[in-house]
Amino acid sequence: MNAIGSFKAQKAPGGRLVDGVEYEDRDEECVVTQEIVYGCGCQSIQHEYHDGTVSRRIVRHDGRVLVDEMLWAE
Ligand SMILES: [Zn+2]
Repeated sequence: MNAIGSFKAQKAPGGRLVDGVEYEDRDEECVVTQEIVYGCGCQSIQHEYHDGTVSRRIVRHDGRVLVDEMLWAE
């Protein structure tokens, strides 16, 4: 994973204002993975597939999954 940016004092999915880091990665199938890791431990992970489908998963710092969804390309 390559860190592509960081931010300060953003509202994490768990509701706290924390700093965080954004990562981006591509594998050989051209699937893009974007991951945001918040200072409190919350995580947001998004996979974008070459057909345009996007899957998104947001996990709170206590491990509870808040969002787990699949968005199909129009
Ligand atoms: Zn959190």
